[in-house]
Amino acid sequence: MNAERIYADRIRSLPPYLFAGIDKAKQEARRRGVDVIDLGVGDPDMPTPKGIVDALCKAAVKGENQKYPSYEGKPEFRQAVADWYRRIFRVDLDPEAEVLALIGSKEGIAHAPLAFINPGDLALVPDPAYPVYRTAVEFAGGTPITLPLTRENGFLPDLDSVDERISRKAKLIFLNYPNNPTGAVADIGFFERLVEYAYEFEIIIMHDNPYSEVYFGEKGSPSILQVRGAKEVAVEFHSLSKTYNMTGWRVGSVVGNADVIKGLLKVKSNIDSGNFGAVQDAGIKAMEEMPEEVTREIRSTYKRRMDILYKALVDVGLELYPPKATFYLWAWAGGDSLAFSKRLLEKGGIVATPGVGFGRHGEGYVRFSVTQPTERIELAAKRLRELGDIRA
Ligand SMILES: *Cc1c(COP(=O)(O)O)cnc(C)c1O
Repeated sequence: MNAERIYADRIRSLPPYLFAGIDKAKQEARRRGVDVIDLGVGDPDMPTPKGIVDALCKAAVKGENQKYPSYEGKPEFRQAVADWYRRIFRVDLDPEAEVLALIGSKEGIAHAPLAFINPGDLALVPDPAYPVYRTAVEFAGGTPITLPLTRENGFLPDLDSVDERISRKAKLIFLNYPNNPTGAVADIGFFERLVEYAYEFEIIIMHDNPYSEVYFGEKGSPSILQVRGAKEVAVEFHSLSKTYNMTGWRVGSVVGNADVIKGLLKVKSNIDSGNFGAVQDAGIKAMEEMPEEVTREIRSTYKRRMDILYKALVDVGLELYPPKATFYLWAWAGGDSLAFSKRLLEKGGIVATPGVGFGRHGEGYVRFSVTQPTERIELAAKRLRELGDIRA
């Protein structure tokens, strides 16, 4: 078969896989015997709490869980999500109409534009960002319009600078705070302004909030649904992945506007058949019974690691802000971020993600994830200091 001809335009036009070069260099370094410290991927190194694993094992033997699950998630799962939202954010949700289970939040994010975007429709997507927002819009035939996230604006989009004609045409906007990759947080004032904007131009807000429990200040990060009237225009994606070290489990949810949720459910029920019931049962256990100490412990571990790595990065000349949330450090190295990452791997055996992989406006930055054991972070800090300034 002619490989050039078999692929559809939608996958042909995907941006080139930027990390292929880094992946290859990483494998080669390992083959040469280099002890590579991988701070590239954002995947928690800590285990899922035992109580959650035990709940899965118990639930797996239940006959009801061995059959097809429901499309929208078990009533008990959706109730647990609603209860969790009330407890954490004081947001009231109707579990029947305003909560939908997802096979990880990525799944819901990737499918959502199919329900709202017609070919040629516009959608606002931040840059730098989790790449799924842009590709999801493109897969639906839509045109992504870039909202640059800059240091000057605290990595928040400047809504006032969006051309009014674009705002009028846009169907939806994707946002994510606490933010991957920049570590930026949004306060409730920003969300209020965003909700006003969405009302004015009739835009659906899709807020991606998987890091709400990974914060280092006094209080947690807000949910956009805490804004009065937000449910008229917004949904929020949530996930157990980062909150309870459950990335491999594939379980998340989307909550908020009932019509938006109904649209996404229509798409999903034609694509997947829901989450494994036992995974939902374990998710219920996580949301209902994990004590506050579990997330507090996770936060304090990341914070300790962040402090170690932050100081080392500053010492070797990189510019960055003290972390407020997420497990990423977003450091300005200037110049070609891919070349910087390659040098860091070649000379120091450390993998970090070049910022340009998150979009054009990420160029010059490098993302370090502290999802490796603390001793490995200490070793990375030591190696960085030995290397010194490796900016171009
Ligand atoms: C990790 C991550 C997700 C997805 O997590 P799931 O495991 O699919 O629930 C979504 N958005 C961002 C920004 C992330 O970093």
